[in-house]
Amino acid sequence: MRLYAIILRKLYGEGRGAVPGTLYLVPTPIGNLGDISRRMAETLAQVDFIAAEDTRVTVKLLNHLGVKKPMVAYHRHNAGTAGPAVLERLLAGACCALVTDAGTPAISDPGEELVALCAGAGVPVCAVPGPCALVTALSVSAQPTGRFTFEGFLPMNRKNRAARLEALRGEERTMVFYEAPHKLAATLRTLAEVFGPERPVSLCRELTKLHEEVRRTTLGEAADWYGANEPRGEFVLVVRGAPPRAEEAACLEDGLALVDSLRGEGLSLRDAVRRAAGELGLPRNQLYDAAVGK
Ligand code: SAM
Repeated sequence: MRLYAIILRKLYGEGRGAVPGTLYLVPTPIGNLGDISRRMAETLAQVDFIAAEDTRVTVKLLNHLGVKKPMVAYHRHNAGTAGPAVLERLLAGACCALVTDAGTPAISDPGEELVALCAGAGVPVCAVPGPCALVTALSVSAQPTGRFTFEGFLPMNRKNRAARLEALRGEERTMVFYEAPHKLAATLRTLAEVFGPERPVSLCRELTKLHEEVRRTTLGEAADWYGANEPRGEFVLVVRGAPPRAEEAACLEDGLALVDSLRGEGLSLRDAVRRAAGELGLPRNQLYDAAVGK
């Protein structure tokens, strides 16, 4: 029994305690407090201090957990001074949890610079897995998930925004964007212009919250709808990639035909894809996705 408990602790880290001199990246719920994991709560309780994007937001979470902990502010406007101050304390042996207002630190949120600073100084950085709007949206989008590109927020500056979108014009992977509600309608219009109004999009709204909704439609329809109806809540846009270029499509067609004929000989889908991809020199994942009808 004791051995079993030790193995469980090794596997799940229960009660292991925070390791001195370590930066912990602790995600927080994106809307549903039920998504707080035991490890998140334990880590927040065990560290010496918390670096928070907004201490007023984090204190509410700590109150909910019954945790009292010293906090320092770490956000995009003070990262230049707060980052080195956090690093100094880590180097002196303290352990710190980095949290943002919601979701995973460093994902379109403060943290990227602190992680790089700590990693560069040889400080261990430990990521606690947890809520992230990107992964939640992608998984529920019903768009192809095998290959995707996370674009976060588009640049605000018109010129940079146009350049970014131009670079994405031929992108074949699924694209994931974050967007604020007051900019949603304009962004959908621009996306429809660049990618075409028929391009499929999944609008993932208020994920994990009471009014959670996934609208699977086209960019043109979405732009029209939100042009006329004010968007409410938080959104992630999951946009289907461009169709493969003609010669790739032709090769895929050959691959699919070979998969069909191998399946006719009794091979499983997986084996048929493996054999056909090998014979024709096609990417196995792409052929598999095409064969299952994505
Ligand atoms: N670090 C966070 C994460 O891990 O998802 C993202 C923070 S970013 C500043 C905030 C954006 O994430 C929002 O504008 C929205 O695009 C997306 N987002 C956050 N929570 C969401 C939710 N519950 N439903 C839909 N989108 C959400």
